[in-house]
Amino acid sequence: MGLRENVKSLDELKRNIYSWILPFIVFTLFLNTILQNSCMTTLSGIVNISLIVWFSISWVLVRAKQSFRFTEISNLILISIYHIIKFSEVLFVGVLVRGQESLGDFIIWMPLYILYIFLTLKRRQGLFLSLMVLLVTFIVGMTLFREITTDVKDSLIQFYAAHFVYTLVLFYIHYLFTIHTELNLVRKQSQIDSLTGIFNRQHMDELLAEKLMQRPKENKPLSVIFLDIDHFKCINDRFGHDMGDWVLKEFTRVISARLTDTEFFGRWGGEEFVIITDSGLAEAGVLAERLRVIIEQHTFQSAGKVTCSFGVSSYQNGDDALSLIKRADEGLYLSKTRGRNQVLIN
Ligand code: GH3
Ligand code: MG
Ligand code: MG
Repeated sequence: MGLRENVKSLDELKRNIYSWILPFIVFTLFLNTILQNSCMTTLSGIVNISLIVWFSISWVLVRAKQSFRFTEISNLILISIYHIIKFSEVLFVGVLVRGQESLGDFIIWMPLYILYIFLTLKRRQGLFLSLMVLLVTFIVGMTLFREITTDVKDSLIQFYAAHFVYTLVLFYIHYLFTIHTELNLVRKQSQIDSLTGIFNRQHMDELLAEKLMQRPKENKPLSVIFLDIDHFKCINDRFGHDMGDWVLKEFTRVISARLTDTEFFGRWGGEEFVIITDSGLAEAGVLAERLRVIIEQHTFQSAGKVTCSFGVSSYQNGDDALSLIKRADEGLYLSKTRGRNQVLIN
């Protein structure tokens, strides 16, 4: 664990929301088509079925991570047109021709539509579009204001008020959501080493302190593995600093791929790394030896073969972070002095 994959961007979060909101919209449209029994016979029925097809395609595109921005903008344009057509149809056909006494279930749609606006656009753009659509529906409503009954007028006023309130609420929620997500992103990025994408030293320090605090409660074993690439300076000297950087990245990729979710991997500094694991000394020693062999057998492209030395320590009564780290570091030092490419349990 520790790779950047855990850091979710705003787009990924949006994609997740779309992947459940789109089926919901398709289902609502489907229900609407069946309830109105309109199918292909009316304009509204044709629009409904076209939207069902398009949103289903959109859902597939969102899941496949294809043309995401195009999909969400085209969806928004279609839903906006649909919203205005539906509103006009309710007034001109439902109220004037069929004598409906209210706007009916139309209002149920609106929060979902406004949510979609704020999901797709930035806060101010969302506010602008939502208010513009409110203005258009307001103008349409006003052209008929003298011809409709008091009940329909009440329903219409409720509709405008609800649209306005939902817009303000979603504008505010959007603001909170953005702040929350960005803070989360910044917090996660501050834990990451920029070259390798694994945890940095500061976060490993915090993790170790946290684990030591939890230990009296959980009474789980706790081990620390220090690992340092052998003669790394020679790689820089022979192949250049860029190649050195690449070896560091490749090294962390190879090690990360072999670790589980409970084995935390971080860069301690330079070409020195640390693993914190919930296992005892013997088990941590076995893990270190397995990693040593994996690195020894891996070919680092033109840099060729690379080896690594390990020092392992486990929690003992009375240990604090410093003493635990010190023993692992001493183990690493010993494995260096005894010829490198080995694991020393201390
Ligand atoms: P030993 O086997 O004793 O560990 O020898 P070593 O050469 O690996 O260790 P030494 O401490 O002598 O040299 C470490 C080198 O790692 C020196 C430094 O320039 C290099 N280094 C540290 N950080 C980076 C980095 O981010 N990128 C690159 N390319 N090199 C780095
Ligand atoms: Mg080294
Ligand atoms: Mg070193």
